[in-house]
Amino acid sequence: MVNLGTELTDPKYNPNIIIVLPHPDDEIFAGGYIYECVQNDCNVYGLLMSRGTAGYGDLTQKEDIGKTRLKEIQDSQKVLGFELIDFHKYLSDLGYTPEQASVVDGKIDADNEYLKFGLIRAIRDLGPSALLIPYEHDTHKDHRNIYKAVINASFRGERPSQLDFGKPHRVNRLFQYEIMNLMEDPTHLIDITGEPWEKVKEALKCHKSQIERDLGYLVRISWRTLLRGAGISNATEINEVLNKLWKDQLENSNKFDADKALQDYIPKARRAEALKATGLPKFW
Ligand SMILES: [Zn+2]
Repeated sequence: MVNLGTELTDPKYNPNIIIVLPHPDDEIFAGGYIYECVQNDCNVYGLLMSRGTAGYGDLTQKEDIGKTRLKEIQDSQKVLGFELIDFHKYLSDLGYTPEQASVVDGKIDADNEYLKFGLIRAIRDLGPSALLIPYEHDTHKDHRNIYKAVINASFRGERPSQLDFGKPHRVNRLFQYEIMNLMEDPTHLIDITGEPWEKVKEALKCHKSQIERDLGYLVRISWRTLLRGAGISNATEINEVLNKLWKDQLENSNKFDADKALQDYIPKARRAEALKATGLPKFW
């Protein structure tokens, strides 16, 4: 049975979404979903982690490719309607040095402390109801490392630690989206046939430097949906991971009394309300 996830594009249930983008052009792979959410008046932030400086086709492009790709995603952002947050600029504005603020395409390290604390801070600042992150088994190492770094930051961001990085915030729902590889068993297929799909194609045209190197974007997005045989031509497939992770974490952390630790920070009534809305298990 296909879950069309209509509540995931409804601002009543999902008002504030961050999609984490390791590189400029990754937004294309969830573009239809992003567009649909924006049309329905959800806030959608695209958190751009690197400037995509490894994505040059020939050596003549090498020097300017970071600038070119930033401009390309800024154009794509206008088509899809989300708010772009350039992580490099975000960290620089907080006083990080250019070196500390750099997340380098092809060399993303999940354990880099500036990346970790910057993510905690961004999640706490923007207060998302849901996070979209790359599929954990993606072929591209940067995508896998961003997955790890964000999972880590979202858990740490909701606990009363590192308070110098903002007020704790709990992300209610956490999803993976497909970039390079097919996800084994996505929990939701969001139908993007029609206008959202047209917008994906329009947004993709903004990434001129990349479509010159790789003509397979649209084929990949379409075929993965058709292969799943759900009777939809174009969809954004996403996989909900929060419940699974919470269960794993519970099994592995018997000593940590999360409820007690959070009492001072999140009033009980709000926690009960959040639990009711998310249907999460009652161990929190
Ligand atoms: Zn990427």
